[in-house]
Amino acid sequence: MIQQTLSIIKPDAVQRDVCGEILKRIEAGGLKIKALKMLELSKKQAQGFYAVHQDKPFFDSLTDFMSSGPIVVSVLEGEDAVRVYRDIMGATNPAEASPGTIRKEFGLDIEKNSVHGSDSSENASTEIAYFFHALEMVDR
Ligand code: ADP
Ligand code: MG
Repeated sequence: MIQQTLSIIKPDAVQRDVCGEILKRIEAGGLKIKALKMLELSKKQAQGFYAVHQDKPFFDSLTDFMSSGPIVVSVLEGEDAVRVYRDIMGATNPAEASPGTIRKEFGLDIEKNSVHGSDSSENASTEIAYFFHALEMVDR
């Protein structure tokens, strides 16, 4: 099934100038970029995005990190895009991610793991709407 998913290149990766390398892997993986922009989240906006994790012990540190610098958000589309992008990203903990995945190659630790990808089609819709207006997405 053709799906959309939300990608975020996190502050640790933007700061190290590896956005191009990460987008290259996304495109090489067969995912089409439908929308793309760079922005910086406030602490409150990061808390809103990660609200499902508000009771986790890492929530405060995670939202500090996600609001610590620019991020690059994009909407990706393709067959099984949610699973395909999670496969390209690799496991949450870079130490456990498979060779060749983004998190294995660029992730610094379990928090600063370079990328976010939606975990279901339903959550992708909510996450895409958090960042993008319909007019910011192209037909291609
Ligand atoms: P994923 O991003 O793989 O879907 P989760 O949804 O479980 O992982 O967690 C969201 C984000 O929170 C992770 O990408 C990572 O940045 C951070 N995180 C997850 N687990 C931990 C942890 N144990 N310690 C610190 N940060 C964490
Ligand atoms: Mg998740």
